[in-house]
Amino acid sequence: MRKVNLTLPMLLKWHTRFNAEYFGGLLSTPIFKIRHNSTRKLGHFHCDYIIGFSGKRRAVNQTITMYDYYDRTEKDFQTTFIHEMIHQWQAETYGIVDHKNTFRSMAANINRYGWDISRCSNISGVNVAEGIAPRKKRNATTECRLLIWEDGDTGKKRFAFTTTSCAERNANAIVGSKRNLAQWRNLQMYKVNKDVKTNCFSTNRKDLRYYDWDKYGKQVIHLIDGKENLILKPWYQNAIANAK
Ligand SMILES: [Zn+2]
Repeated sequence: MRKVNLTLPMLLKWHTRFNAEYFGGLLSTPIFKIRHNSTRKLGHFHCDYIIGFSGKRRAVNQTITMYDYYDRTEKDFQTTFIHEMIHQWQAETYGIVDHKNTFRSMAANINRYGWDISRCSNISGVNVAEGIAPRKKRNATTECRLLIWEDGDTGKKRFAFTTTSCAERNANAIVGSKRNLAQWRNLQMYKVNKDVKTNCFSTNRKDLRYYDWDKYGKQVIHLIDGKENLILKPWYQNAIANAK
């Protein structure tokens, strides 16, 4: 159960109330929006400006957007909401929105009534709301690192992949720590596309770690447990050839 389910009528009610209590009823009724998917924002005020004959900027299309990705108390949501109302007041009074003097003095005024409105909302520490999936990471890397070495005991070539977003750091750490060990002869690291990994490994995760790979020449890799052979695709060889 969420603490609060934001609705548009709720935002209108809040706006009417806070407008009367803290802004002398001077603010116009903005457009309200509720969004679910931002992990970074709690609220946002937007408007356009028209320049009048007097040269004064007049705010139009005022919009307050509330984000409910995080499960917060009513008071927390209202604190964000009033923050955005201060921006609306700035836009309609001064034709400019910022967190400088006019924002600070208005926030200080309102905070005397038991609020804690600040320039920045603190996102860390708030809970992720139930029922809303975290957004997928953008710019997920398409690269991973391929390590190839010779087993010092058997002389066989072996390889492993490091994945994760820290691939490079992990790989460097491995190379650094293993380079001088007899079991890790001629250790080399290549940057390859993740597809290489997907296409080389079987779906059995037990087998995902190490392979002999030139037991049958360069075209075949052989699982360590000896149960399964995989044909190396030609582009895999290209990937290695082109790797830095
Ligand atoms: Zn702000």
